[in-house]
Amino acid sequence: MGVKVIKFGGSSVADANQLRKIRSIIEADPERRYIVVSAPGKRYKNDSKVTDMLIMLNAQATSNIPYDQLFDAVKERYTSIAEGLGLETGLEEWFGEIRENLEKGCSEAYIVSRGEYLSARLIAAYLGYDFIDTRELVLFNSKGRLMVEETNEALKEELSKHERAVIPGFYGGYAGTDEVCLLSRGGSDVTGSLVARAAEASMYENWTDVSGMLMADPRVVSTPLPIKYISYVELRELSYMGASVLHEDAVFPARMAGIPINIRNTNAPDDPGTVISSDGGPDGDTIISGIAGKPDFTVISIYKNMMNKEIGFVRRALAIIEDQGINFDHIPTGIDSLSMVIESSELEDKLDDILDAFRLQLKPDDIYVEDNIALVAVVGRRMHRSVGVSARICSALATNGINIRMLNQGTNEINVIVGVEAKDYEEAVRVLYSEFVH
Ligand code: ASP
Repeated sequence: MGVKVIKFGGSSVADANQLRKIRSIIEADPERRYIVVSAPGKRYKNDSKVTDMLIMLNAQATSNIPYDQLFDAVKERYTSIAEGLGLETGLEEWFGEIRENLEKGCSEAYIVSRGEYLSARLIAAYLGYDFIDTRELVLFNSKGRLMVEETNEALKEELSKHERAVIPGFYGGYAGTDEVCLLSRGGSDVTGSLVARAAEASMYENWTDVSGMLMADPRVVSTPLPIKYISYVELRELSYMGASVLHEDAVFPARMAGIPINIRNTNAPDDPGTVISSDGGPDGDTIISGIAGKPDFTVISIYKNMMNKEIGFVRRALAIIEDQGINFDHIPTGIDSLSMVIESSELEDKLDDILDAFRLQLKPDDIYVEDNIALVAVVGRRMHRSVGVSARICSALATNGINIRMLNQGTNEINVIVGVEAKDYEEAVRVLYSEFVH
């Protein structure tokens, strides 16, 4: 029988009612054999995620603030799930052990990881599946770096012993120790992808509370179409520009093994969602796959006569921002000019120091700083070698009176980035969406 690895996010495991839904999803396809779960998330708008409660619990315990109330509130989240499902579980014993470890001064990672641990134990009991702990399987080196190949081997071996299992996301352990190590927030997506690779799954289904990705931000474009199929590369471009549905490290294990990822909605299980794969799957009706953008960039432009003859100029300029720990997004150049497009939040209070260093070390003729620049990315694998896409982008924006401040297209031609003034950002997204989609 084939294998599908399925991961349920926090909102999908938030209460007993959600767990009933996930049970019918699992039972609808016998290939759904390995289930990776998050800790219970929010049940309603102002509810707390268990992970956040546990972070707070650790903070209280380490600052000697009484934590009984919060401890009981966490326990109550699981007890109400177990009661809602009529489950007899070892909750008393599991919480007893956690309290003992808290009193002994355990690590923050251990406490926070209990959200996923308890979630997986409870769900395993509910489904009658085995429970697999990831502490000795998802392995990190002493610097906290995921050991991808070692993890793959360890998971592979363990999975071969279980026909069906529930596996906690988000944590593993430092190799050769008993210490828990966490992935970054949202990291259960990564665990799911690692398990999918190790299980040689035919599909990694990531179940959340939206029916996949949309072609544009629904806060900007009204009722954008869903993206049915997309390639890993396009996904990366769109998520980088803010259209994120998955943890950014979740793609690589599945991608390495050529396993498609299907984003699905636990609350609308009949919706097909978005399938992400190497080749991007069947073509849709439009030449683009999606539009995403971010409204808050700063552009630093440096001018210097004969810059193009000065060997090492760009390297020295980049070294200055590297020294400040700043990441740039684009560096459009002219013969005597170099611009750096940087997310404004990156610059914060570092801008003056950077400008001083540029003046001192690069001796430019002029430097200009412009904030309030927005970037809009038009992404689509079918744009490759297709004549006239950039022309359509420029002419649609021009017809609507939107000035293009920057235009950047990589040679892979799957992404055209336009810089516009922040005030034109939303209109630019709408104009481009209707140019290509309607
Ligand atoms: N529970 C963790 C978090 O809230 C990990 C996850 O849900 O993926 O970030």
